[in-house]
Amino acid sequence: MSHRERLYQTEAIVLRRSDFGEADRLLTVLTPGRGKLRLIAKGARKPSSRKSGHVELFSYGRYLVAVGHDLDIVTQAETIEPFLPLHEDLLRATYAYYIAELTDAFTPEQDENQPLFGLLKEALGWLATADDLPLVARYYEMHLLGLAGYQPQLFVCGACKKALEPEINYFSPAQGTVFCPQHGHNRTDTVELSANGLKVLRFLQTRDWDTCRLLRLNPATQAEIERLAYRYITHHLERKVKSADFIQRLRRQTEAN
Ligand SMILES: [Zn+2]
Repeated sequence: MSHRERLYQTEAIVLRRSDFGEADRLLTVLTPGRGKLRLIAKGARKPSSRKSGHVELFSYGRYLVAVGHDLDIVTQAETIEPFLPLHEDLLRATYAYYIAELTDAFTPEQDENQPLFGLLKEALGWLATADDLPLVARYYEMHLLGLAGYQPQLFVCGACKKALEPEINYFSPAQGTVFCPQHGHNRTDTVELSANGLKVLRFLQTRDWDTCRLLRLNPATQAEIERLAYRYITHHLERKVKSADFIQRLRRQTEAN
């Protein structure tokens, strides 16, 4: 094999990081051209390692990677954007954990998805600076779902295909579809969706962040769409999302103080 085939260069964002062996780290990263990868950063836990600062969680960097027998190995790493506020503020960190966990859960390994890489990079930047962190999370969920092939149908009834009216409709987490009152209220797999909740979900689905960031949601609507997104996501992942529970706990503590 030639030298060229044994090495590749890629941009990467660290989704997950764990200890591996004596001094190494196992990284789960998202890349623009190679999708999600699991890589070994050798010696990255040694304080003297030149790699250690460049393979931090959430950091966006450029790697030189050697093709390994089992897992590929990071041979050089340089940070492009560390997103420092995500490490300095517990709430921002928790939301970053959440979107990283969600991204990891919804992406198969080595499945190229350039738009998703772009979205994740942008969203980490928004989490580092935005005031309304839940809004970033709701926007990210909606667009991640679309890019991962789980786009919810929010415009016509899943049964009669008529355009949904601004009234109480019914969302099925199993189907990822909204049903009109006539076809939704008797189903056992649906939850109520308010007219305002539906409007906000559609807005998040169809507009870009520069428009969505101007939304000011009342707490009831924010809670409603958060609950609904959570049910839809956990239904499809068939498990709880750890960091989502942590966000809830943190928020309750903040509200209690
Ligand atoms: Zn219907």
